[in-house]
Amino acid sequence: MHASVTRKPEARPTTAVPPALAGSFELPTRQSGATFLDLATPTISDLGERALIERITARLGTASWLVVGPGDDAAVVAPERGALEVWTTDVQVEGVHFDRRLSPPDAIGHRALAVNLSDLAAMGARPRAALLSLVLPAALEVQTVDGLLDGFLALADRHRVTIVGGNISRSPGPLIIDVTAVGSVRPRRILTRSGARPGDEVYVTGRIGDAAVGLASMRQGGSAALAAQETRYLRPDPRVRAGMLLGANRAASACMDLSDGLADAVRQVAAASRVGITIEADALPVAPEVRLWNEQEGRDPIQAVLAGGDDYELLFTARPAQRGRLRHVLKHLSDLPVTRIGIVTRDPRTVIRAAGHEQPVPEGFSHFE
Ligand SMILES: [Mg+2]
Repeated sequence: MHASVTRKPEARPTTAVPPALAGSFELPTRQSGATFLDLATPTISDLGERALIERITARLGTASWLVVGPGDDAAVVAPERGALEVWTTDVQVEGVHFDRRLSPPDAIGHRALAVNLSDLAAMGARPRAALLSLVLPAALEVQTVDGLLDGFLALADRHRVTIVGGNISRSPGPLIIDVTAVGSVRPRRILTRSGARPGDEVYVTGRIGDAAVGLASMRQGGSAALAAQETRYLRPDPRVRAGMLLGANRAASACMDLSDGLADAVRQVAAASRVGITIEADALPVAPEVRLWNEQEGRDPIQAVLAGGDDYELLFTARPAQRGRLRHVLKHLSDLPVTRIGIVTRDPRTVIRAAGHEQPVPEGFSHFE
């Protein structure tokens, strides 16, 4: 957490109470007669690095297993007895993953943690700790950082994730939030992408296509009719409980989250498992307003839903012989629909079947296109 390529030795704190999040801001604090309180919307440059770090760390909780927390050079964490650790990292870059004109600060903070928790969920892990790196433009308003933390910490609290450390640096351009999350899982409960076998059934949690339509709607100024879809884009709900239950009950043979869309996940699981997958278009859990909106926009509603990312649902496969285990999981997920959408095949192709016709599952989103 406290090692960073942007950190310089002279930025190291020299007071008796070192900042918990090491940084290299070198922000000029305002030297004029204006005090912080005089400013209507103070920036982090007005506040200064030390005060910003203290402002953030004052909000962080702790845990019994956190032996050395924020304030030292690195965090020291006691492992969970009998469990393996699951590590993941994911970054949110302004202009690539979010637009500050569309996403309020708390939604940006929420999403930065949610995308990581979604990856832990896809492995069947219980989230435990996270590291937070903020790379911030000096002109960013303090209230924006407060808002980021509001969303980030509310989601952390809901899933009992402890922020064990982090880093702050100045950005010459975009706002960047980089998060590393760690979870724990018993060895026999791990979910991977590679366990699907021919004959397994393919399922997806929740609804798909919501987030892509929500984002498109906001880009056009927003719509009351698509408020639920906009919320699904802004504040995705990582399926942590579903992933943990699938793992704990050994109900899934393979699992992956839908960060880059259903089509991408289907192709990834099929490739990792060296099998094919056939998806039934009619079975896809799509909200009527999403179907309608895609039709009105002149998009093929099936292709749009397959390609649309950001839903953060789980795609998983399950052996038909173990439906009892899955039923047990579903009983504990009463508020989350789970839909069977297809079948794993020996034929290695990934296809979608609609109205009796089969076509290849389209390529997913790529960050470099
Ligand atoms: Mg993932």
